[in-house]
Amino acid sequence: MKHLIDKLEKNRILTKEEFMYLIENRTPETAEYLFERARAVRQKYYGRDIYLRGLIEFTNYCKNDCYYCGIQKSNKNASRYRLTKEQILECCKTGYELGFRTYVLQGGDDPFFTDEKIIEIIREIKKGYPDCAITLSIGEKSYESYKSYFDAGADRYLLRHETADEEHYSRLHPKELSLSGRKQCLKDLKEIGYYVGSGFMVGSPYQTDENLVEDLLFIKELNPEMVGIGPFIPHHDTSFREFKGDNGELTLFMIGLIRLMIPNVLLPSTTALGTIDPYGREKGILSGANVVMPNLSPVNVRNKYLLYDNKICTGDEAAECRSCLENRMKKIGYDVVVSRGDIRTEAIKGE
Ligand code: SAH
Repeated sequence: MKHLIDKLEKNRILTKEEFMYLIENRTPETAEYLFERARAVRQKYYGRDIYLRGLIEFTNYCKNDCYYCGIQKSNKNASRYRLTKEQILECCKTGYELGFRTYVLQGGDDPFFTDEKIIEIIREIKKGYPDCAITLSIGEKSYESYKSYFDAGADRYLLRHETADEEHYSRLHPKELSLSGRKQCLKDLKEIGYYVGSGFMVGSPYQTDENLVEDLLFIKELNPEMVGIGPFIPHHDTSFREFKGDNGELTLFMIGLIRLMIPNVLLPSTTALGTIDPYGREKGILSGANVVMPNLSPVNVRNKYLLYDNKICTGDEAAECRSCLENRMKKIGYDVVVSRGDIRTEAIKGE
């Protein structure tokens, strides 16, 4: 087992069979070895720095019906909200004062926010905070729309591929959504010049170990700047409510593998990890992650952006989330830094 981990660190890739073997035969000991190597590799590029992203969940209206997601269109129990441009800018102001230099605008696929509105929001944020990066996470759009946001100043785009297997994709999404459509979007985003983030849920319904290997190989091929992965957690108002959600251990293992596969990748320790385990985000960092994404959304809407059950930090002010995470990182020996947190392409000198 260890020799496969060493091989992955050296070659940055394994065969499908080797990845399968590692995943299927993993033990707490091999996982510990993987995490040790993942930390060492992360250290080469990022030292002990942890990058912050301020997450602004600006709408929970959605025209899609992804079966796993709590804010899917068909969920009549979801109480819907949209933030105004002024509210979004207020979140940015609070965030800036707290040391955030990246804003992530995330939402459902909400047609109310036309390209014109999105462009205006991007322009105003860039005008007020020219030293900050803007990341969008607003789903599938046309090449032209992506290009217009980029031209307005958006820097990065998060669009998880969710699963790289066609058949699995169709079990997680209604027929209007396809893996090929998703992949086309990722290709367009790269071509336009965004820093791109992809990723997947670990333990989503019907997922096999083989699917996870396909996800890894897809990510290797795409070579994104960011990879967002987190455990699937059921939401009580979805048809997936009965599926199990204890996927933390496997999620950490995947984080470790991804760190070795793309050594300098930006890898968040997600809120979903923190939701299934009170020390989940710390464990994510100790498995090779280097980014945390505290919530900057106004407190009165927090408990409405519920993609899954029991989401943490829904009652806290942004400042509380920020200092809580800083303390958590300090306790495990890492430093939250004030920085845009761009991808580093060279190892730190002396490492
Ligand atoms: N509408 C945007 C943003 C989606 S929300 C888009 O389509 O890209 C961000 C991510 O949350 C999704 O990509 C999905 O991977 C994750 N997510 C959704 N429901 C979840 C659940 N029940 N458990 C864990 N993660 C979930």
